[in-house]
Amino acid sequence: MKANYVIVGAGISGCSIAYNLAVKGIKDIVVLDKSYLTSGSTGRCGAGIRQQWGTKMNCLLAKGSIEFFEEAKETLGYDGDIEFKQEGYLIISANEEEDEQFEKNVFLQQSLGIPSRKITKDEAKKIVPHLNTDVIVGATFCPTDGHLNPFKMTDAYFQAAQRLGVKFYFNEEVKDIVVKNRKIKKVISTNLEIKTRNVINAAGGYAKEIGDMAGVDIPVYAENHEILVTEPVEKIQGPMVMSFAKNLYCQQVPHGSFIMGRSNPDVLHNHSNESTWQFLDEMSKTVCEILPVVGNLRVVRQWGGSYTMSPDRQPIIGGTEDLKGFYLACGFSGHGFMFAPMTGILLSQIILKQKTMIDISDLQLNRFKNKQVFTYEKSVV
Ligand SMILES: Cc1cc2nc3c(=O)[nH]c(=O)nc-3n(C[C@H](O)[C@H](O)[C@H](O)COP(=O)(O)OP(=O)(O)OC[C@H]3O[C@@H](n4cnc5c(N)ncnc54)[C@H](O)[C@@H]3O)c2cc1C
Repeated sequence: MKANYVIVGAGISGCSIAYNLAVKGIKDIVVLDKSYLTSGSTGRCGAGIRQQWGTKMNCLLAKGSIEFFEEAKETLGYDGDIEFKQEGYLIISANEEEDEQFEKNVFLQQSLGIPSRKITKDEAKKIVPHLNTDVIVGATFCPTDGHLNPFKMTDAYFQAAQRLGVKFYFNEEVKDIVVKNRKIKKVISTNLEIKTRNVINAAGGYAKEIGDMAGVDIPVYAENHEILVTEPVEKIQGPMVMSFAKNLYCQQVPHGSFIMGRSNPDVLHNHSNESTWQFLDEMSKTVCEILPVVGNLRVVRQWGGSYTMSPDRQPIIGGTEDLKGFYLACGFSGHGFMFAPMTGILLSQIILKQKTMIDISDLQLNRFKNKQVFTYEKSVV
């Protein structure tokens, strides 16, 4: 079997890249996934979408992606509902230092055309009436941030890519990438051997392992992040409420359930997807402090998934100096769902040697190799 491009991973990134290449007229694209569509982090994520970031690159990736999500149903010709809800993100500052940082973040965001603003405790209380403002100093709010259904959004890309001729193979684990004289020769998976010159690594938490198969060192690692969902109740909360200092995100989704998560400061670097009693305990305490009424809800389910962390908490999107035809879309550090539209657009432009929609020289793999001073994203839960 032969392919022009082999994409490893059928999460939101792989599906977006496949669609963007196919829509530009590229033929013979094959997507391999060791499991099923959305089986990786995509099907385990909070699916929050925000433009309120601390680095220029993350702001621009999110802003461009939101513009795509707003039209996604029509652009992709999807007959389902992607459940895009744009009721904002309310990001609370829990101390003076954080509040000062948010002032700077909003200045950056506004300079890039993002409609975020700094607000007082009283304004925050008007937006989320059950917010406990005794524990906050201030907040920022961006009304166009929001939430999507990760399964349906990925399905929309998947179906559009299939209609354009992309071939998807599931339960096909990539086992090896054969390279000779710094050129890719073939990809070997569970049941297939595919001759190809081009491989796109969209393997999420396994991006490092796929890099190792091709002899390219990618300095990313997977770490477990847990999340839970409550019973559905009538609508009481529009925006996502988020706090970096208090370590919380909490969103009510359109069918009424609350989805919430926090990170574990002692987490190990591995592929664990487990969920723990400790998370349930810590999560409950955190949410009861900030959104006390939510503490009355019953938890329906909890689970874990991988964040694929990069050294500067920003993604790696681009080719590699050491191996022609090997491309990366990884290291999203917990935010790859919201960046997926821009990931697909930008990587397809790089692959086809077109001018990229925004300058992403700062997202190249060599930023780590060359040990250049890079901008570190602090706005991460
Ligand atoms: C609890 C949690 C909450 C999150 N919340 C958000 C959020 O609110 N907003 C947001 O934007 N992001 C969020 N994220 C991050 C987001 O889920 C990821 O960044 C995003 O889904 C990455 O998509 P991906 O397609 O790159 O990777 P994945 O979805 O992980 O897809 C990678 C695919 O590669 C396949 N694969 C791996 N190895 C191989 C192999 N050897 N051969 C073949 N296939 C292989 C896997 O089976 C998988 O399907 C969250 C993540 C978690 C865990």
